Amino acid sequence: MSAVNAESSASGGGTGGATSEANTPSAGIVIVGAGQAGLSCAEALRSGGFVGPITLLGDEATGPYHRPPLSKAWLAGEMDAAQLAMRAPQMLERKQISLRTGVRATAIDRAARCLVLENGERLPYSGLVLATGSRPRTLPLPGADASGVLTLRSRDDASALSEGLARCAERGLPLVVIGGGFIGLEVAATARKKGLPVTVLEAAPRLLGRVLAPALSDWVADLHRSHGVNLMLGVQTAHIAAGDDGRVSAVALADGRSLPAGLVLLGVGAVANDELAAQAGLACERGIVVDACGRTADPLIVAAGDCTARRLDDGTLLRLESVQNATEQGKSAAAALLGQARPFTATPWFWSDQYDRKLQMAGLSAGADHWVLRGQMDGGSGGFSVCHYRGTQLLAVDSVNASKDHLLARKLLDAGVSPTADQAADTAFDL
Ligand code: FAD
Repeated sequence: MSAVNAESSASGGGTGGATSEANTPSAGIVIVGAGQAGLSCAEALRSGGFVGPITLLGDEATGPYHRPPLSKAWLAGEMDAAQLAMRAPQMLERKQISLRTGVRATAIDRAARCLVLENGERLPYSGLVLATGSRPRTLPLPGADASGVLTLRSRDDASALSEGLARCAERGLPLVVIGGGFIGLEVAATARKKGLPVTVLEAAPRLLGRVLAPALSDWVADLHRSHGVNLMLGVQTAHIAAGDDGRVSAVALADGRSLPAGLVLLGVGAVANDELAAQAGLACERGIVVDACGRTADPLIVAAGDCTARRLDDGTLLRLESVQNATEQGKSAAAALLGQARPFTATPWFWSDQYDRKLQMAGLSAGADHWVLRGQMDGGSGGFSVCHYRGTQLLAVDSVNASKDHLLARKLLDAGVSPTADQAADTAFDL
């Protein structure tokens, strides 16, 4: 692939195309999406020696901020805006990363090497990074457009949710969460901490069924029930009812039951923001298809973070939505633009905070045929881990309040080392 010269300057930052707009003095690297992956990529470009202009462009009102607290500490009111921000503005200025907020990209003109913005402006690029993230999936439920039916992705969403929770708390109205995924469960935990009545509706027979072993799913369900959540598994939602004021009043189930609701959170997953890439003719399949280095088929365009689907060696696609994935892919994408191969192949990891429990997952448990427990999975606050195996190979470790196990599991999985199942189950055995 042709690289954007690490030593290119503002007046020479091209990749060799003689007539393109990318060779105009203003061309440099343009990053669409000022989130986790976009920021990681911008900083990695600078630390990798790129000296040309870097524009980090996002459609939100603020610069990059941490999303995970939006369902946790931020929603609980335990963090301020400065803590939520990833970088102080001066830090970006110091690195000569030009941040443009409130700007939406609407098209990529690949022939002219130009990004088209909503206001009609055309931004030439010598390298383009797509870091557009994902957006909450919506449900085609009758009544889902009622006021008080929310999703959670952005800081604005979290503000609306926070106001809705406060309104419910004042009036003693319940929160109904549709979807027992990580975000829904975290919001349920935060709302319970605020004393709200909470119902969680999950269509599948168990929580987080695709990622957790059955015993751990059951443990998470018990955790929520023990904190007073009305958890309903295997239920289908039929429609959302609203009062005369247009505000949500109830969630109706397919079996005829109706649950009162002052606020509804739809937590039914996310879809990749891959439309810019798709319209520009780049391959997209549940996300922008990239290789392990973040490269698309266009040598000048890379992609990173939630918007991507990574092609693995066996031809399958892996789509991850996590801080680690966004950060590491951002670095790989920067390296790719600088002409270096930095494949991101490390063990995936993720965390979730619910009540006083920290759930940390290392590896991917898909394909596991058995698991063993390390520690005691009881109601106490002691930690434990569930170790997933396929045959004798350790695939993944899910830990609860057991950060040491988690960190060791990442090292073992990165190194491809599998302790035997008996060793993993023995807490006296030093992993
Ligand atoms: P984002 O951070 O979403 O950034 C993409 C940016 O691009 C957005 O600002 C978007 O508005 C902007 N954009 C999109 N299209 C355009 C366009 N056309 N023009 C301009 N700008 C555009 N991960 C964990 O590992 N652990 C957790 O505990 C955890 N908790 C989470 C809790 C919540 C509530 C949420 C929402 C996410 C959580 N995640 C967690 C996931 C993690 O935050 C994401 O995986 C990560 O933020 C992805 O980074 P990104 O840069 O790919 O996308």
